[in-house]
Amino acid sequence: MKLGPLTRVLRPSPTLAVTMRAKALQKEGRDIIGFGAGEPDFDTPDNIKAAAIRAIREGFTKYTPVGGIDELKDAVIEKLKRDNGLAYKRSEIIVSTGAKHTLFNMAQVLFGPGDEVIIPAPYWVSYPDIVQLADATPVIVDTTEEEGFKLTPATLGKALTARTRALILNSPSNPTGAAYTRKELTALAETLRGTEIIVISDDIYEKVVYDGFVFANMATVSEEMKDKTILVNGLSKSHAMTGWRMGYAAGPENVIAAMTEIQSQSTSNPASIVQKAAIEALLGDQAFIPMMVTEFKRRRDTIVAELNAIPGITCSTPQGAFYVFPRVSALYGRTFRGKPITNSSEFAEFLLEEANVAVIAGGAFGNDGHIRLSYATSMELIVEGMKRIARAVAALG
Ligand SMILES: *Cc1c(COP(=O)(O)O)cnc(C)c1O
Repeated sequence: MKLGPLTRVLRPSPTLAVTMRAKALQKEGRDIIGFGAGEPDFDTPDNIKAAAIRAIREGFTKYTPVGGIDELKDAVIEKLKRDNGLAYKRSEIIVSTGAKHTLFNMAQVLFGPGDEVIIPAPYWVSYPDIVQLADATPVIVDTTEEEGFKLTPATLGKALTARTRALILNSPSNPTGAAYTRKELTALAETLRGTEIIVISDDIYEKVVYDGFVFANMATVSEEMKDKTILVNGLSKSHAMTGWRMGYAAGPENVIAAMTEIQSQSTSNPASIVQKAAIEALLGDQAFIPMMVTEFKRRRDTIVAELNAIPGITCSTPQGAFYVFPRVSALYGRTFRGKPITNSSEFAEFLLEEANVAVIAGGAFGNDGHIRLSYATSMELIVEGMKRIARAVAALG
């Protein structure tokens, strides 16, 4: 059947492709260790599950207002005040079916043909596609490992044109774990001062930070930046709720109203039951978060040390999220089964075939010299997986 024009820009998610291939090999009986997971390996806390079960029992199972019930919007407002020191009104909040959905709706109402949206690389795989699906142009701006994979005022300044409409910032970052300090954000804000460029701040890894890092976002930098920033956040990563689908945005009233319109003609409200669970996640006991982060830190320290011990691989220490993004390009040119490895996909393929380890090629995130490994898996599998990688790399021709 003939497809419509929008399908031109669609690409299958590269992160999912590796996961599928690893699953297929597992089905064949191969013992594959997966480092592809983009979600916490912890169970959703019991108090949150209980709130959802209560909602079902009490019959809270009907349509709700499209942008979320007031009680949930108030919980989001309370969270933003408590954690970020930011004040919002109900009319400036929308909840959606996951933060990805929030970002999609936002792109639909903000962007159009001719608009340029700056996306620092390495980037989360969905940003360029979400921008293209809104008919706008992603402008990929490379960052360097030496600069901590972070945008600087100089690199940002060079990317700005008369058509620049927005900048998407993700801190801590998927895939690098890089996180911007308040000072660094203040410097970037200076470059944007006096312009009408919007900052979309994807704060989904806000809670997953290490070594006393103090999370900051662009909205907290100044009054001017609060007016120009739209915050995106959700519960997937902070509360191990990826399958529940709950995200939210905070920003200017007219943008939120337009996003609500789009949502009213597509998905309507996020699941009523999940909204009740989200209130508990936002306002209930938060003890789960430090427990999870402590465990992630232990694993981060192990995986970083083990990777750096492998000749040809170097790995900087991420400040947040649950990924490492080691450089493997020093091994390009080495041969596997008589064929030279020339890029990150071939390196990932080599690890899958030779080490029985699944990782994601850095090319998927806009940096071909690296690979991404998620450490949202057990310490035991991390240790075993690193042994396998070391052995396979040592055997390269
Ligand atoms: C996981 C993730 C999201 C979206 O998560 P949802 O499950 O849709 O809430 C958004 N941005 C980044 C960078 C992510 O890694």
